[in-house]
Amino acid sequence: MPNEHYKKYGREYYQKNKARRIEANRINQERYKQEWHDYKAALACAHCGASHPAIFDFHHVNPDDPDKKHVNRLIKDRCYAQAYKEIEEKCIVLCANCHRIHHYNEHHEQKNPPAAVPAEGAWEEANLLHGE
Ligand SMILES: [Zn+2]
Ligand SMILES: [Zn+2]
Repeated sequence: MPNEHYKKYGREYYQKNKARRIEANRINQERYKQEWHDYKAALACAHCGASHPAIFDFHHVNPDDPDKKHVNRLIKDRCYAQAYKEIEEKCIVLCANCHRIHHYNEHHEQKNPPAAVPAEGAWEEANLLHGE
């Protein structure tokens, strides 16, 4: 059966090349890792200008984007090309400090002023109850 012959041949070829492919893959992964390190080493925080490969966060400009992906997650999953694309199209680069401050401010701006305004009618109701 010619079909069997090809199957067998294919299997042998696969086995023979398995070790070589694993090695090539490992070398590629090392290269991608190094490139990622170099990429980060060349960045600077958009807010304070600090620069060190260990400090960066990638802040999504649009937090409601349903397709946003965590850059560090992509890197962990070795999706390097996707990570670069995500950063360049959707993120600003901030150091960990500026990133925290950014979200802290965001949080406080949203929480503080509106909560202080009582709902309409709340005063009258409160006074009525008090008078009883
Ligand atoms: Zn910064
Ligand atoms: Zn953020």
